[in-house]
Amino acid sequence: MTKLSILLIFLTLFGCATSGNKKTDSDSKIIDREYPRVDYHLIQEVRRFGVLYKHYCKEEMDRTIDVRLENIEGYPNAAGVYHRIQDYTIISLKHWRRFTPMMREEVVFHELGHHVLNLGHDWSTDNIKEGCPKSIMYNKGAGNCYHMKSSYFIKELFKRAGCKG
Ligand SMILES: [Zn+2]
Repeated sequence: MTKLSILLIFLTLFGCATSGNKKTDSDSKIIDREYPRVDYHLIQEVRRFGVLYKHYCKEEMDRTIDVRLENIEGYPNAAGVYHRIQDYTIISLKHWRRFTPMMREEVVFHELGHHVLNLGHDWSTDNIKEGCPKSIMYNKGAGNCYHMKSSYFIKELFKRAGCKG
């Protein structure tokens, strides 16, 4: 774990306490000075994803999810990235700070679409409907469209993954 990161480990069972890696005192001080000690909004969004997973997929998420809030090296424009090989998600701190709650929800759900639901991007050009993509797995996300019909996009996301609800 790098010094300038907040590592959140969400246990597989929703409702379990979250646990972080052991930190030295000096690490904690650095984190406290640079960032909020714990980003409760990020925890809430990941938990909400877990609740929706249970609702749509009729089962608990059966894996540990590693989501970090830090700067994304090499991808200055990316709001989030899932590293498949190392199996963790980074949400861009720079973006997170200026995002509205809905934008935060969308980026977390998009990345967990990769991370948890094993989905790729929907690159097809015929997925644009009324100026909106069909899915938040569109490579650029759904943007303003997500604000207008987030419940549609959430349903579509889980359906895409084979969970009908
Ligand atoms: Zn993506």
